Amino acid sequence: RNIIFDDLSFQIYQQQMYLDKLEYENLKRDLRSAVKNGEFKLYYQPKIKINDNQNKIGGVEALIRWEHPTLGLVSPQRFIKIAEESSLIREIGDWVIEEAFKQLSNWQNKYDSDLSISVNLSPLELYDKNKSARIKNLSQKYKIRRELIEFEITENALLDNRSDTIKTLNELKNLDFSIALDDFGSGYSSLSYLSRLPIDTLKIDKSFIAKLADSRNIILIDSIINLSHKMNLKVIAEGVENSEQLEIMKKLNCDEIQGYYFYKALPVDQFEKILEENYNY
Ligand code: C2E
Ligand code: MG
Ligand code: MG
Ligand code: MG
Repeated sequence: RNIIFDDLSFQIYQQQMYLDKLEYENLKRDLRSAVKNGEFKLYYQPKIKINDNQNKIGGVEALIRWEHPTLGLVSPQRFIKIAEESSLIREIGDWVIEEAFKQLSNWQNKYDSDLSISVNLSPLELYDKNKSARIKNLSQKYKIRRELIEFEITENALLDNRSDTIKTLNELKNLDFSIALDDFGSGYSSLSYLSRLPIDTLKIDKSFIAKLADSRNIILIDSIINLSHKMNLKVIAEGVENSEQLEIMKKLNCDEIQGYYFYKALPVDQFEKILEENYNY
């Protein structure tokens, strides 16, 4: 046993813990003012329809970006969790929805199209009893076509089986919004969600797409897609990064593809340029 080495690595470990905690507290502090200071932006990642062989953009997923004044771009993977733990997620979530609705109304006026926008909802937002009423008001304020908005929820939103979660989802459904189950297959996915929840779309998690070389995975995805189609659900694959993955998903009759092979998430001006230059918008 090397006592000196163990002691040193323990010190490094302690120091790292301290730095992590410091960073966490700093980010939490800065998050409080980020909405007010206009530091958030939505990026848009195109979703490509592949089931008609035209490879057109059917819609986009809105993905939040935080331009921190000194740290630069902070990933949502880092700060959404902090926002959830400090309940700042309500304010941030409402900002995301309003921004996405504003953008949709802008596109409705600018392009004659059925371009749709998906918006991620955190589980905590679904617990909020007034959420669907606020969303309804915003949709009226911006005069958007609600059937062009899809809310994405992950299965961990459903794990604790809270009735208020399902209630909010049903209210949104009744208002004509669509619901997608995000990251399907990444956690404790249960097929029973597919029949219990008012969902329209299933998004296959990128970890599945990354393991397409495994033939058992292909069999599994094939079954999930067939089952989904029988239940009238649309299926999207996320994380498609190369043409091999695209071809396999085409053969399996996947409806839409989202991934770096086509586009990453883009600032709105770059996305509009793509629409106008490549898709005759
Ligand atoms: P998500 O909803 O599953 O979004 C997809 C994530 O995968 C995005 O990461 C996207 O940039 C990334 N991605 C897309 N195509 C590929 C690919 O081909 N390869 C790889 N490796 N990654 C790909 P992003 O933007 O960093 O967001 C991460 C997560 O943060 C999201 O996962 C979502 O859970 C959360 N998030 C993002 N925006 C919001 C938001 O406005 N509200 C809430 N509540 N959560 C959000
Ligand atoms: Mg999503
Ligand atoms: Mg996802
Ligand atoms: Mg994810």
